[in-house]
Parts: sequence; structure tokens; C-alpha cells
Amino acid sequence: MIETASPGDINPSAVTTPSSLSQDNGQRSVWMDGKVIPWSDARIHVATHGLHYATTVIEAIRVYHGKPLQLVERLRRLQESAVMLHLKIPYSTDKLCDAVYTLLDLGRIKDAYIRPVAWLGAESGGAGSPVSPSCSLELSPRGLTTHVAILALPVDETFSMRHYKDGLRLMISPWARPAPHTAPVSTKSAGMYPISIISRAEAEQQGCHDALMLDHRGYVAEGTGANVFLVIEGDLHTPLPDSLLNGFTRQLIMSLAIQDGLRVIERAIHPDELLRAQEIFLTGTAYEIAPVREILTMGEYPHGPVTQRLQTLFQDHVASL
Ligand code: PMP
Repeated sequence: MIETASPGDINPSAVTTPSSLSQDNGQRSVWMDGKVIPWSDARIHVATHGLHYATTVIEAIRVYHGKPLQLVERLRRLQESAVMLHLKIPYSTDKLCDAVYTLLDLGRIKDAYIRPVAWLGAESGGAGSPVSPSCSLELSPRGLTTHVAILALPVDETFSMRHYKDGLRLMISPWARPAPHTAPVSTKSAGMYPISIISRAEAEQQGCHDALMLDHRGYVAEGTGANVFLVIEGDLHTPLPDSLLNGFTRQLIMSLAIQDGLRVIERAIHPDELLRAQEIFLTGTAYEIAPVREILTMGEYPHGPVTQRLQTLFQDHVASL
């Protein structure tokens, strides 16, 4: 049942991120604007609107033993994020699904991190048109071509939460998630990420792995690229997804927990409640379920039985895809 209410010793530099996944992309292919091309040919013009104004939307999809997790849902979220930013993706979700499978087949990749990305280009005549030297870099997205690319990066078991078996050390970021009427908070768009990136960099400077962000009202929101859950007296508490990304891993964990008989409560969570949580964990495509070992100035947490149980349920779920 979902209830809603109103308002050690890990070296951070050893934490694997998508950018450190594949050192050798020489033989790899990229799906770009409807074609499979070599990795080294996947280039964009420096006048690209998405580069200057963050008119860029992204997705993240994990593939386990050849089976993508929540592929259609995540590609739909890409489409929805694009609509919000006035991008017109010229491909159906089915076509993008096919593109993902094509890349997996070509690269013979079984376990992967897939990164679809769509952005506004610098030209108006469609993909492949020349970029005019008279291009004006105007703010207006009107008429500009939307490009789409998909990267498939192979991953191994070091990528996932097994990497975080000792738990994450977090700090609370001074940067707040914006109010929903001030930014497209429900989209996975490039413009939402600078606060995450600054928070993450500041956390790493403090010897932490990551940061926990509060929202514009001062309630607990989410990690820099992950959602957060607290275990309090055996129940699972998580912030309402009103100023944070309603992650697909979050949604899956909530339904696995409910099926397992746990009570899941979505509500506004005051940061002081971090003091009384018995367990805390983050969820996301990259993290899967990552236990939190410490939140600076708040407390230390064990890798407790509820987190461990949910990790097992998640592993069983992806094994059965
Ligand atoms: N919040 C933010 C800001 C994120 O970037 C992510 C990662 N996409 C998440 C939450 C978790 O979302 P998901 O489970 O869909 O990966």
C-alpha cells in the first residue's frame, strides 16, 4: 500500500560512472539520426543550440544479460522530456527501441548502460543539412532540427551497486532542487543537471561519494542522480516526487516493496528525520540500490535488513527479465 501525505573507506574516485565505463570505443558504433555510424564519426557542430542553451534531453537504460530494463517506459520519458523542451523527436518509441537492440546486437553487448540523447541542432533543414555561417544563435527553438543519438556502453559487475557494498558517504548539498514552477523538474534534461554536478563535485571535495539535495522548501528531495529512501520503524519513507525526478528504479523498488508486504509512505520528509532513520539507501539506474553508510552531521547507518532484502528482490527481478 502506498500512503501519501502533503507536505569507510571507499575512495570516491573509484566510484564508477558512465564516463569511465569504456576506455576503448574505437570499434564501437553509435546510432545517430537514424543511422549506425562509427563512434569517431558521431560529432556535432559547435553552434548546436543544445550545447549553448541546454536544449538537450537524455535517458539512461540498463541492460541485464541482453534484456533492457524498462526500455519502453524510459524511451517514453525521453519523448515526454523532449516535448516539454519543445524538441520534436522525429522517431517513434518503437523505432528507438529497435535502435537500442541494433546496437546491442552489433556490439554483441549483454550488459550495458544505454544513453539516448536528443538535442536541438544548429540547422533547420533536418539532420544532414549544412549549418549556415549566418546561423544566429537565437534563443527560439522554432524550426531547428532535433537530433537523436544512442550510445551503448558495455558494463561489468563493478558498475552496479556491488561497487557500493560498503555504503555511500553523503553530505547535504547547499544547492536546493528548484520548485516545479521554476524549472522542468520532471524531465531528464541537461538543464536540470548543473546543480547535481556542482553538488557532486563539492561532496567529493569533502571526501564524500555523493550529495543529498533538499528541495526549495527545505525538505529532503533526492541524490544528485538518484532517489532516496529512509527505513523508519520497518516502513519505507520516500519524498513525494513533486520537485524531483520520479525515477523508474524508485517506482520499481516501491512496487517490489509493496508486493513483499512493506508499507511505503510517500510524503514530505524533514531533514531532521534523517537522524532517526534506521537505514537509508539511494536508487537509480546506475546505483541500482546503494546503501548509505553516513550522512555528514546527521548520522551513520548500517547496511540493514530492509535494504538487503530489497537488493535481493531487485536482483531477482533483473535476473528474471
Ligand atoms: N534523480 C535524478 C536527478 C537522476 O538523474 C536520476 C537518474 N536518472 C534519478 C533520480 C533516478 O532515476 P532512475 O531510477 O530513472 O534512473
